[in-house]
Amino acid sequence: SAYVFHFGGGARNDDPRAKDKTITGGKGANLAEMAGIGLPVPPGFTISTEVCTQYNSAGKQFDADIKAGVAAGLSHIEAATGRVFGDAANPLLVSVRSGARVSMPGMMDTVLNLGLNDVTVEGLSADSGDARFAWDSYRRFIQMYSDVVLGVDHHRFEDALEIAKEDNGYYADVEMSADNWRKLVGEYKAIVEEELGRPFPQDVHEQLWGAIGAVFDSWESERAKVYRKLNDIPAEWGTAVNVQAMVFGNMGDTSATGVAFTRDPATGEKAYYGEWLVNAQGEDVVAGIRTPQYLTLAARERAGAKPLSMEEAMPQAYAELASVFELLEKHYKDMQDIEFTVEKNKLWMLQTRSGKRTAKAALKMAVDMVGEGLIDEATAIARVDPMALDQLLHPTLDPKAPRDVLAKGLPASPGAASGAIVFDADTAQARAERGDSVILVRVETSPEDIHGMHAAKGILTARGGMTSHAAVVARGMGRPCVSGASGLSIDMAARKARIGTRDLAEGDVITLDGSTGEIMAGEVAMVEPELVGDFATLMVWADKHRRMKVRTNAETPMDCQVARQFGAEGIGLCRTEHMFFEAGRISAVRQMILAEDEAGRRAALAKLLPEQRADFIAIFDVMAGLPVTIRLLDPPLHEFLPHADAEFEELAEVTGLGVDHLKRRAGELHEFNPMLGHRGCRLGITFPEIYEMQAQAIFEAAVEVATKSGEAVVPEVMIPLVATKKELQILRALVDRVAAQVFADKGKTLDYLVGTMIELPRAALMAGEIAEEGTFFSFGTNDLTQTTLGVSRDDAARFLNPYVDQGIYPRDPFVSLDIEGVGQLVELAAERGRKTRPDIKLGICGEHGGDPASIAFCEKVGLDYVSASPYRVPIARLAAAQAAL
Ligand code: ADP
Ligand code: MG
Ligand code: MG
Repeated sequence: SAYVFHFGGGARNDDPRAKDKTITGGKGANLAEMAGIGLPVPPGFTISTEVCTQYNSAGKQFDADIKAGVAAGLSHIEAATGRVFGDAANPLLVSVRSGARVSMPGMMDTVLNLGLNDVTVEGLSADSGDARFAWDSYRRFIQMYSDVVLGVDHHRFEDALEIAKEDNGYYADVEMSADNWRKLVGEYKAIVEEELGRPFPQDVHEQLWGAIGAVFDSWESERAKVYRKLNDIPAEWGTAVNVQAMVFGNMGDTSATGVAFTRDPATGEKAYYGEWLVNAQGEDVVAGIRTPQYLTLAARERAGAKPLSMEEAMPQAYAELASVFELLEKHYKDMQDIEFTVEKNKLWMLQTRSGKRTAKAALKMAVDMVGEGLIDEATAIARVDPMALDQLLHPTLDPKAPRDVLAKGLPASPGAASGAIVFDADTAQARAERGDSVILVRVETSPEDIHGMHAAKGILTARGGMTSHAAVVARGMGRPCVSGASGLSIDMAARKARIGTRDLAEGDVITLDGSTGEIMAGEVAMVEPELVGDFATLMVWADKHRRMKVRTNAETPMDCQVARQFGAEGIGLCRTEHMFFEAGRISAVRQMILAEDEAGRRAALAKLLPEQRADFIAIFDVMAGLPVTIRLLDPPLHEFLPHADAEFEELAEVTGLGVDHLKRRAGELHEFNPMLGHRGCRLGITFPEIYEMQAQAIFEAAVEVATKSGEAVVPEVMIPLVATKKELQILRALVDRVAAQVFADKGKTLDYLVGTMIELPRAALMAGEIAEEGTFFSFGTNDLTQTTLGVSRDDAARFLNPYVDQGIYPRDPFVSLDIEGVGQLVELAAERGRKTRPDIKLGICGEHGGDPASIAFCEKVGLDYVSASPYRVPIARLAAAQAAL
């Protein structure tokens, strides 16, 4: 079959599809790749992702071609191992493993030891000379297969094992003898029969097809769907299935299993990092049943732990493993996350992939690897997820703040978070949706908890090591996580937890430090991050490789300061409406709005002028030498109207007008659809004195700062919500007139621009004409999205989520630009604008200016700059560089 690929055991692998993740999935492609470079990989075969799609669309059936392909795959494994699937004397056992293009929680768990039944278990026992091992493997298989494929609750098996141990007075699984396991197998089979009304399948081929089908079924599971949605993974990708000869880490003290990273995934340090367990199989390391041991001597000593590291206990296998680490890094030119098993001192590689890492580690590794000559700057830039920088840009715990430490766990994912305790994922999500900060506190997490982990600010678990589910997922999501906190116990029924010696209830606030493992009572103060070292290095490279400028959306001197520190090269959008709301001013604003005539409005505006001028002086001061785009008043006046009686009374007092009069006037100004109403340039057209005041404030401030600082001050006056050339023509003339007046009064002239936002479809269509009047366009993609989609951003929450769930829009169009639709208008307006005015300056100032996918689009259509909120500026710098590569 063209859909089944062999690997290992000397399989020839010239077909490039075998190593193509889109075909054989991440796991399968890398198994083929590792086997290809001569690493010890147990032989196996991969059924391609295309079969997943076929199977799920064709009534869950396999055709003859796939059946023949699987038979040939089995023959390959049999030939390579000298064992026979289902054979009574010399049985072949396999694992069945899912593997999508990217590693994906939510997919079917791996089934190990498949091919065991009442007959083959005896063969395995005789052949290995180890009855205990054979029966241990069989009980593991029944439990896994029944849980994962047949849907029998695993607790039933765990309980039976606990009872068996208790009956025998054992503490640990390793004390169980061959006979104990044999007896337990009998009980396990009885459980299955009782639950399902039919016996555990003894036919090894039925076992195999059951497992293969279950992998493909799991692609459609709710868990998988949630994960795909959170991570923008298309349903069409499908998963591959890997069937692979078993190797055994549970054959005594010369056998082991483990997971490792070639560098520290939390810090990025160049040091092997991992966990292993002697005489264990598969997921034992991550499942938290036994406490895994340190891989290296150095790590063990640093932790002050007793049990021997692998480096000490199995020096030969460890040395081989270390050389594999080196080889893999050289080959993949990236940090690898590895799964391995040692069977009787022989090392086997079971998986490798690019390791998940924290943002800090990603940065450090990218910069280090350039230094090591492993990768070039462009690769380093491409390797850091811009959104992950977010983790580094946010505050960490203030080292000087007092800490009321309740207990300590493992520092599983760095960063700090404070929030209210919640004990389950659904509650986490519900409270987060209400705007609460929550910390998800669990015994351990599983893939069902993903949505809660996402909603939480931090994650705390009682069990699990540094490579547990919670730790791995939290690092990937950038959530701080403390795992394996043995001082934590949870009483789910009472919804209470004991942390250290303190009793806490759901809703109580705690703080986690994911870098130290500390769990603290209450909220601990945080400090701003320092953007030095690797971060600064990568940013320098990004700046070198990007074409577009990065500006910021900011309107207070503080935000401007932050944005400049983050590398903003100007302001792309300074909104002026918030300035109008400031204490002490709103009353003047209301007087202006409610005034009966122009004279009344001018009187109120005269009070606002000095305040507004002071606003711009403060901003120009911080931004001296850089362009500042100021948007004239945009929101509907409606938004400034008084509501409460007290507000009317206060206003009546300052204006001397009666409350009833003011109320009537406010009633007249009421609008049904204010966002499509009296706002934007429509205000400037009808109440020109408002824009005159603002323009005067801008130019007076600019002249003052330019005179004082000696630096160029470059105001770019932006007219919002323009639909026609005529609007811009009128308002541009107004601005020019005020500028000329100010320059004449002050005896100083400045360069300035007058331009417009493109935020209405008509403006985009008429861009060629509009460009005759304006020297720059700034795409206001928030409004342009609203008006193009006919969707109100403020009301969209109710239906946009279901829309995204059903794939109507691939992502929230207010978060990531609808490139297909709204993007066309942007592209067309840019084209038409440039045709009229080849040197027209083009930028984007909607939320999309900080979204990497939208930034890539801006690069494609050749915008001059993007403008993002201050904390997004570094993200935009990196994304712009990636887009330009
Ligand atoms: P996951 O994607 O959840 O990591 P894997 O398919 O990698 O699942 O399997 C989990 C673990 O099961 C592996 O790390 C390994 O320890 C064990 N395993 C899988 N296949 C085999 C095999 N053929 N022989 C021995 N152990 C295996
Ligand atoms: Mg794995
Ligand atoms: Mg707008």
